[in-house]
Amino acid sequence: MQNGTGQKTAVYGNYIDGNWQVTEDTFPVLNKYTGEEIARISKASKEDVNRAVTSALHTFKSKKLSPVQRYEILMRTAQIVSERKEELAMIMVGEVGKVIKDARAEIDRGIQTLIASAEEAKRIAGEGVPLGQPGCDNKLAFTVRVPVGVIGAITPFNFPFNLTVHKVGPAIAAGNTVVLKPAEMTPIIACKLAEIMEEAGLPAGFLHVVNGFGQETGQYLLEDDRIAMFTFTGSPGVGRHIKSATGIRRVTLELGNNSPNIVHHDAPDLDKAAELCVTRGFSNAGQACISVQRVYVHRDVFDVFVEKAAKVAQSIKVGDPADSATDVGPMISEKEAKRAEEWIKEAVHHGAKVVCGGKREGAVLYPTVLVGVTAEMKVVCQEVFAPVISIIPFDDIDDAFRMANDSRLGLQAGLFTANLQLALRAVHELEFGGVIINDVSTFRADVMPYGGVKDSGIGKEGPRWAVEEMTEERIVVMSL
Ligand code: NAD
Repeated sequence: MQNGTGQKTAVYGNYIDGNWQVTEDTFPVLNKYTGEEIARISKASKEDVNRAVTSALHTFKSKKLSPVQRYEILMRTAQIVSERKEELAMIMVGEVGKVIKDARAEIDRGIQTLIASAEEAKRIAGEGVPLGQPGCDNKLAFTVRVPVGVIGAITPFNFPFNLTVHKVGPAIAAGNTVVLKPAEMTPIIACKLAEIMEEAGLPAGFLHVVNGFGQETGQYLLEDDRIAMFTFTGSPGVGRHIKSATGIRRVTLELGNNSPNIVHHDAPDLDKAAELCVTRGFSNAGQACISVQRVYVHRDVFDVFVEKAAKVAQSIKVGDPADSATDVGPMISEKEAKRAEEWIKEAVHHGAKVVCGGKREGAVLYPTVLVGVTAEMKVVCQEVFAPVISIIPFDDIDDAFRMANDSRLGLQAGLFTANLQLALRAVHELEFGGVIINDVSTFRADVMPYGGVKDSGIGKEGPRWAVEEMTEERIVVMSL
């Protein structure tokens, strides 16, 4: 197919039962920095989704991979991904607008997620259950974990490789089959993952990719009740819809956050805290579910912290994501950058002050630091999902905890303090899925349990925990 510049555009199909199927109906994928069309993607019809689920169910019922086979396929996938790292990273530079150093880091993390998933395939176990109750003499009981069946995986645009691996890796490790619908803005990297898994030895029928928009292709998936479980990462609004549309089927929902980070006056290293808050508020152009967004700083160190943060922010290089010196590239679309710019303007209109940034060129929003914000401003109370942080003073640590908890969201929070008792209090009083001490909310190791409370979702990811979510615990009772 020719694109506007007369060059050939790659066309990606849907991957169903081991075949790539190109449809008449396609949609474009744009380079998020240049706006150029880089590929066309086949849109899966209801019939395509139906065929993918039929094949996934048939495969689940008729073919089994042993734990060692699953381990080997996932390890081989990790190996091929590492051999093709640069090519895969460059795909994300184009379709996500991710800066090359972050794209490489995401591939590296995806490799670790694949390895951890492979390892889990070999240690899925139940437990012995003592039946210490009258009437249970001469009975032996234990549990086994069995795969749930066909898993529908729906993924977001911002970490389209590692977050897809976080679903497909554990699902295959646990012995399930998968129908994956990647984000429509960034589907190429998911197609590549399917291609690589096939090369790594995954037989036809275990993984399918159906492309398209959420309200069409995503909805077709939700309506197919042969899918036993959904694993979703994305916005709270869509998460709520998925939960209500899937009845009593299993769901794992990894949703948003407006991450708070508290810097107490006794923070062990204020320079480090300022650097982490700023760089992790702006990496991936702020489009990470655990990006630093609200920074609560004790008044004793507030002015000096703002000064340090501004200095770090001003040193950040903004521009072409393909340039290895660039720290912050474009957001996913000009529309999203304009939305964030509007939120900044609204905050300024109500009294906030821009310490730096605030400017926009197309899809590029310059890293922005705000002070003088209030709790009702959108940049504070909603998920900004853009390179915008707000620094807010507090006098009393109880106020900082209260402000941090004053949110419908609860994924991860950070606290900088040298006080061990305070750190332990935070662990209990901050209402989040993860509390990170002396680092920012953005810290995530792929092997740790990860998931939120409140509107940030239900269920956990991290291969060990995802395998638990993706298996049923079955009780076995034997009369002896
Ligand atoms: P989104 O909710 O708009 O889309 C996510 C996926 O859902 C896409 O594949 C989309 O096509 C699909 N979808 C949309 N409507 C649907 C419907 N009606 N039925 C079925 N599927 C539907 O999210 P996004 O803009 O791609 O990603 C940003 C959001 O993801 C942010 O809120 C961010 O915090 C969240 N996120 C969370 C985590 C986490 O692990 N907690 C990680 C990354 C991103």
